[in-house]
Amino acid sequence: MLENILEYQEIEGKLVAEENELLKSKDREKVAEYSQLLKNQHARILTLETQAQKVNDSYKKATAKYEEFLKKLEVLEKEMENADSSKIAVYEKAYKDFAAISNSLEKDITNIYNHIQQISKEYEEIITKSKADRIKFDKYKAAFAKVKAEKEPKIEELKNKLQASKEKLDSKLLNVYLQKREAKKFPVFVALIANKCGGCRMEISASKLGQMKTNDYGVIECENCGRLIYKK
Ligand SMILES: [Zn+2]
Repeated sequence: MLENILEYQEIEGKLVAEENELLKSKDREKVAEYSQLLKNQHARILTLETQAQKVNDSYKKATAKYEEFLKKLEVLEKEMENADSSKIAVYEKAYKDFAAISNSLEKDITNIYNHIQQISKEYEEIITKSKADRIKFDKYKAAFAKVKAEKEPKIEELKNKLQASKEKLDSKLLNVYLQKREAKKFPVFVALIANKCGGCRMEISASKLGQMKTNDYGVIECENCGRLIYKK
């Protein structure tokens, strides 16, 4: 009676193994890794573009302000040339103040300019790296697609076999099996080996063993791992 569900379990085991092989494929891991890298780079590029926009704006504002100051300074210089001697001291003070302001503006502009250079350097680097990583990503993606294409017929075949095998099953037994699978147990059915659970190797008590004679399908549940134990 248990034969059918054991056959089902065996097919599922093969299917899971094939699917796991795909999941664990190095190419698949690399695809995921490079996909994440590209995403991060893209996000960084967007951030840098926003930063560049802002810094460029402040560069424009600062240079405009600077030019305005230079003009004022020029006017002041001319006024000073023609100023009468009693006002010279006042003009000199104003000139010093203006010069200080324009110096500090020059410094601001230099800082902003350096920041722009820094952003554009990182931007260039990231674009170059991103291009190289995109090539690698495409390479791994193609390699994984190939592995997948090779595996898929086998997986399809096992899925069809599993479905065919499922139709032969007693629905009560199938439900119990599916519940255990839901709880991530595999294999669900294990043989009794030297009075031990074939899954977790725990010793089965004599009273529990006695239930094998009375239970449906002669199956008992392991108290330790929850698998279903049958006698071979
Ligand atoms: Zn067990």
